[in-house]
Amino acid sequence: MTARSVLTLMAAAFALAAASCTPGSARDDVSDTGPARAPASASAPSPEPALPLPPPPPPPSPLPSRPAVFSVSGELTQGGWIRGIAPGGATTLTLDGARVEMDDEGGFFAAFDRNAGTTATLVARLESGGTISHEVAVSPRAWKIERVNVARRRGGPTEAFMRLRRPELAQINAARSLDTGSAGWQQDFIWPVRGRISGRFGSQRIYRGEPGSYHSGIDIATGGSGTPFVAPADGVVILAAHTPFTLEGRLLMIDHGAGLNSAFLHCSELLVRKGDRVKQGQVIGRIGSTGRATGPHLHWGMKWRKSRIDPILLTGPMQ
Ligand SMILES: [Zn+2]
Repeated sequence: MTARSVLTLMAAAFALAAASCTPGSARDDVSDTGPARAPASASAPSPEPALPLPPPPPPPSPLPSRPAVFSVSGELTQGGWIRGIAPGGATTLTLDGARVEMDDEGGFFAAFDRNAGTTATLVARLESGGTISHEVAVSPRAWKIERVNVARRRGGPTEAFMRLRRPELAQINAARSLDTGSAGWQQDFIWPVRGRISGRFGSQRIYRGEPGSYHSGIDIATGGSGTPFVAPADGVVILAAHTPFTLEGRLLMIDHGAGLNSAFLHCSELLVRKGDRVKQGQVIGRIGSTGRATGPHLHWGMKWRKSRIDPILLTGPMQ
């Protein structure tokens, strides 16, 4: 496991956040705890002799308050990720304007696409109306680029191919839009299988100056078909294509929550079904070469929302 930089950032807007950290300051948390009666009758004049009022309910126990700063860790680079705790009192969180989910403790996960720019900005909006911003420096990567003196293939896919492909893409997009509430994103990810890394994330061919699409995951080869692989973190199966797709072959997709998901391509067998909850380390499928693959290997792709992530930045190097 790589040592991950841990940064605690002092933000400028202490005063704003401090005011909003007082538990219960903006809400009437005790209104439901009093005796059951209409509030109006309490102040209305009563002909009966005044009864001693019940003692006031005890003040609500203070909620554990969080500091008024971002606390973050991660791999702050292209294809990398960030995980952390938003400042106390944060009601919403965005990364470069896009909404980022928070759990009940303000925990969040976000990621930087392979082609992300060199800075990204987290903004927490507070109950008080103020904001706390945190700028992230996203370091560029040196991708493996191969220049070939071959023209890029011309012409789009045939209509016959697209008739097969459209419903597959619809299934993939529908799966990615599911929100399962899984908390797998909080875990340290493990390798689904160990073997030779036969393809790196982000590598790309340039055909006579014209870039092809980059490799969207990491390829792991174990020397044959049938090797079992495991879930890299807890999750919920959002797609299990037991009938091979044209390109991905037998495709398994796992949602880890917070917008983060894994896809496993070219499997010879899937050992789970859509809707299954899986635990980190649980065997979920077997490596194969179904779909468009030159040999048996596991292609593991990861996405956070629309950003493609390099899985090796979540697992650390293979030992
Ligand atoms: Zn691949």
